[in-house]
Amino acid sequence: MQNYKMWIGGKWLDAVSGKTYRIVNPATGEEITQVPLGDKRDVDNAVEAARNAFPAWSKKSQTERSAIMMRIAQAIREHAQDLGSLDVLEHGTPIRDAIPSVIFSAERIEYCSQVARGFMGAVQPIKSNVLFYLQREPIGVCSLIIPWNVPLRMIASKLGTALTLGNTCVIKPPSINSLVALRLGKILEELDILPPGAVNIITGPGGSVGEALSSHPDVGLVSFTGSCETGKAIMQAASQTVKRMILELGGKNPFIVLKDADLNAAVSKAVPISFVNSGQICAAPGRFYIHENLYDEFVERFLADARKIVVGDPADQRTQMGPVVSAEHRNNVEAYIQSAIDEGAQLLLGGKRPETPPLDKGCFVMPTVFGNVTQNMKIARDEIFGPVVPIMKFSSEDEVLKLANDNTFALSASVWTKNLSKALTFVNELQAGYVWVNDHMALSSEQPWGGFKQSGFGKENGVLSLQEYTQIKAVSIQI
Ligand code: NAD
Repeated sequence: MQNYKMWIGGKWLDAVSGKTYRIVNPATGEEITQVPLGDKRDVDNAVEAARNAFPAWSKKSQTERSAIMMRIAQAIREHAQDLGSLDVLEHGTPIRDAIPSVIFSAERIEYCSQVARGFMGAVQPIKSNVLFYLQREPIGVCSLIIPWNVPLRMIASKLGTALTLGNTCVIKPPSINSLVALRLGKILEELDILPPGAVNIITGPGGSVGEALSSHPDVGLVSFTGSCETGKAIMQAASQTVKRMILELGGKNPFIVLKDADLNAAVSKAVPISFVNSGQICAAPGRFYIHENLYDEFVERFLADARKIVVGDPADQRTQMGPVVSAEHRNNVEAYIQSAIDEGAQLLLGGKRPETPPLDKGCFVMPTVFGNVTQNMKIARDEIFGPVVPIMKFSSEDEVLKLANDNTFALSASVWTKNLSKALTFVNELQAGYVWVNDHMALSSEQPWGGFKQSGFGKENGVLSLQEYTQIKAVSIQI
């Protein structure tokens, strides 16, 4: 069993407390290893290391920093196999998805480092005797707090942008799967191209490590992706020192199929994206609204495709869906399944664990589909974050727009129609940070991502994300 430590100021350290906690393989329920249980004292040390590294790192030219970031991205590509295998081991991501996900992470860093080269300044002459210009500066120490569902990709988005632009960082990986982040630390150490302390990685629980990173007076920005409840706690903790914040929170994304939609296209997209990563993707469709004329056919075709999803050992190339991330999370998902049954939804598929060994040992939930769901049922309102699909019926476009917007989350949405004018009406009226037409969950590094309403604020990815990790100084010089 490999011995994992935290990375602080370029050194691998145990927690000050000396305590550790278990990382468990969700596919088997077995312990993989132990990692340090950090607390506020470790956070203080990491923030100090990041603060000390800031002058050297931020004073490098953008060209130099971008070249270093390109080298880091290349190293991630070179380690795709071992980073991907760790994702399989500690998260249960099927290997066929895990390796492309690592490559996508590298590509995100490459994108930021290239875009940053044209981003840092602008001169705007306002009078002949005044030179006025805007100067972008990095913020300083950034706390990057990461959720468990796609940790490397989240780190790549946040670190790729923050570090490229001259900030230094303390990363807090999710406590239940911290190994990918620690492996990335090893890769950065081997490259030996960053000042010690430019990147630090602290493992431990959100309540202590995450809280300390959100309230530390020397942290300038908290970039958080995770649940809405934790986002609210972070806002409170960060308010005492008026930190800048990016909050990427939960979603309950409507997938709306209008009467004139291409049903084949809608179903062929709907099924894989409902079950990829066992439904644990913030952008996944959280509720389906199908026009009453198409409902029966949509459900029938959806079920036919969903029955073919191969559930199994995530290390097997044939597996399309692995376990959910932990036994505790499976309990949450199962509680939603039970609530749907109790509230009268029609269980059309799944709703149970696989019974055949060895899957009975892991945290598996079979692909689950409910029909005849209504808007006030818990599965139609809450983010389930599991392989559970609620399908609802509607009769008019006005009605479905109201239903789609009737949720505190507003992360993303999709509408399926062949009519351009209807599509644009939905684009304008849907409350969501991202709207797809005749597609869902198609994302790239160029496109900014971030929600409306209680799905948070601030953008990750795309050029707009670079603004989030910099501050603008206006300079006016009398000549
Ligand atoms: P979570 O909120 O439980 O945890 C996220 C991170 O915050 C973890 O590292 C955790 O240890 C830490 N944390 C917990 N309590 C904290 C506190 N009081 N202060 C500071 N940090 C604390 O979320 P999760 O269960 O890991 O992830 C699932 C959630 O993330 C879902 O709601 C999902 O929608 C959301 N998510 C959103 C996006 C997006 O882009 N909007 C992307 C991925 C996941």
